[in-house]
Amino acid sequence: MSEIADLFDLTGKWALVTGARGGLGQAMARALAMAGADIVGLGSTPMPETGQLIEASGRRFLGVQADLSQPNDFRALVAQMEELAGPIDILVNNAGIIRRADVLDYTEADWDVVTNVNEKNLFFLSQAVARGMVSRRFGRIINIASLLSFQGGIRVPAYTASKHAVAGLTKLMANELAASGVTVNAIAPGYMETDNTAALRADPDRQRQILERIPMGRWGVPDDLATAVLFLATPRASYVTGAIIPVDGGWLAR
Ligand code: NAP
Repeated sequence: MSEIADLFDLTGKWALVTGARGGLGQAMARALAMAGADIVGLGSTPMPETGQLIEASGRRFLGVQADLSQPNDFRALVAQMEELAGPIDILVNNAGIIRRADVLDYTEADWDVVTNVNEKNLFFLSQAVARGMVSRRFGRIINIASLLSFQGGIRVPAYTASKHAVAGLTKLMANELAASGVTVNAIAPGYMETDNTAALRADPDRQRQILERIPMGRWGVPDDLATAVLFLATPRASYVTGAIIPVDGGWLAR
């Protein structure tokens, strides 16, 4: 193996990727598998396509179903995964949802479901996985934040609040877990072509406004996150923690 490949080698590691059925989660799971990791994919529905892609690349895949909008016994869930797969070395907290409505109309039901998936259960799943990581003195937790971890956005109050929380929790967990060999970082994707942004791309005015503001002049695609996730996942990135890396075509620089 070349020295460069060695820097990013994840052979023998298990990575748990939430929301890996498609979009950004599937692309990051594939990137991790390309670097040698075996994958546990967690979602609220089965993800046969992701399983096939991972296995076709020669890695092992375990699909797990859990609804992150509901309370879960994460300690038991993680114990079950680790029994069926192996110790989780890398956790990518990617599952996330968005509900759009004007400030004056936003409902408590939308607030609760977005907050549960994007914020509350991101924390409690991380807690359950981190217990094992701390005892093994190694772990990589990678949270998927957003441009709305830094900016206000429009018509997405619960999403903006939850993504600001993801930024804060990334730093808090980084502080507490640093001495145990567990790093906690985040990726803040820009405007990416996935189901999450289908409504924006279907609105010609919003589509034009967004494109005009992206210095790269294009929407991101899921594979644009591959290098960032590998950088944060590798054991060699042992001195990087508490960072939030934008992958946004220059949006935040503008
Ligand atoms: P997506 O295609 O809609 O995928 C979201 C994933 O989250 C799905 O795989 C879904 O799995 C999972 N999920 C949703 N609700 C869940 C629940 N209750 N329980 C378990 N899993 C659940 O969206 P995406 O664009 O790839 O988004 C991935 C992450 O990136 C999200 O955190 C999002 O906020 C963030 N992000 C996206 C963009 C963008 O432009 N697309 C920009 C910044 C940040 P199931 O279908 O199985 O429920």
